[in-house]
Amino acid sequence: MRAEVIAIGDELTTGARLDTNSQWLSAELAVLGIPVVFHTTATDTLEAGVEAFRIAAGRADVVVATGGLGPTADDLTRDVLAAVAGQPLELSAEALVAVESRFARRGMPMPETNRRQALFPRGSRMIPNPDGTAPGLDVDLLRSDGGRSRVFALPGVPAEMKRMWRQTVVPVLLAMQPERGTIVQRRIKCFGAGESAIEAMLPDLVRRGREPLVGITAHEATITLRIAARGRDEAACRAAIAADEATIRSCLGLLVYGVEDDEVEDAAIRAAAAAGISLASGEIGTQGRVAALLAQSDARAGERMFRGGTVLSPGATDDPVAIAERVRRDAGADLGLAVGPPQTDADGNVVLDIVLVSDAGVERVTHRLGGGATLAPSRAAKTAVDLVRRSLLAARAPEPTRNLEVMR
Ligand code: ATP
Repeated sequence: MRAEVIAIGDELTTGARLDTNSQWLSAELAVLGIPVVFHTTATDTLEAGVEAFRIAAGRADVVVATGGLGPTADDLTRDVLAAVAGQPLELSAEALVAVESRFARRGMPMPETNRRQALFPRGSRMIPNPDGTAPGLDVDLLRSDGGRSRVFALPGVPAEMKRMWRQTVVPVLLAMQPERGTIVQRRIKCFGAGESAIEAMLPDLVRRGREPLVGITAHEATITLRIAARGRDEAACRAAIAADEATIRSCLGLLVYGVEDDEVEDAAIRAAAAAGISLASGEIGTQGRVAALLAQSDARAGERMFRGGTVLSPGATDDPVAIAERVRRDAGADLGLAVGPPQTDADGNVVLDIVLVSDAGVERVTHRLGGGATLAPSRAAKTAVDLVRRSLLAARAPEPTRNLEVMR
């Protein structure tokens, strides 16, 4: 089975936006054992879309497309698929209910234009979209050689696309290749060391063809280890994953902060909640990013544990210890977290001090700013937030200091 990924939208062909959907889908298809042989990017016109799908259906067994499912006149994917399938568009009662109920939940009447999103080429199936109005399409396209290509058209919005992929498309693809058994995935999230340093700490896990397959990716200084196990059933896959996860955790120690969609701030807030410890922040060099991370944490205890953040401009008090003490006292919190201003150290590196103050004393980390103008402050903010988790966990169960060294 071979796949092709199609990304649709003028935004992509003009270079205004980077096509991350194709990148993500290709990695997902690889995990399912379905090699991606072509990527196509097409503009929003009917002609370009028809050409792209016709060619893809002629050379791939599975086609996954994103974009062009919205309600406006330039969202043409459904028209394109109807044209390539040679089928009329018909109103799907099931899809209309799904689109209408999406508006009803928000207490709004459905604009007439959104009826378009309930149109499906005859014979196609709907892919439910729990997070948005645009349902996806699952269509069979016949090839001139009598073969068939199965097309999955998903919305362009990455979060909607990913959920629909996991919920509906993956089970269909697994069912299409029963001889390959079941696949279960787990993502282990790490922070505090680079991709290559983390890989070097693992005993030959990240290797092509290994079973389970372990992949490593980096995004804004967060490293994700993705374990994908293939087995005769889910229990066998989970057992294989558990063994690899245990190895990873014992090799990486405190560098592992969570799993699946966890972010460093969720882990920090969870650690604070587990210890019954409240927190306040004050920052200069990270310009509000520390407070933003802690305030937006998905961990439910966020509001209780985070007592507020202060953003200061460089000047009167640049001493992070004084800032941490003050925000802690003012907020009546157990911990005060502070980030000082960027400074140049003796070796000419730009660094900033991150300080955590509690009854137990002062912890200080000198963080070297790196990663360019956009990434550097966000990395520094994550390092500050992660210090809360590390400090609270280390207090409970001392870990080898090796990992703390890597972090600096
Ligand atoms: P909607 O109903 O939300 O309009 P849609 O299927 O019409 O969904 P598009 O209008 O094509 O989707 O894209 C919506 C947004 O999703 C884009 O503005 C862009 O932010 C993002 N997006 C679309 N395609 C991609 C892609 N290939 N990679 C990354 N982001 C994308």
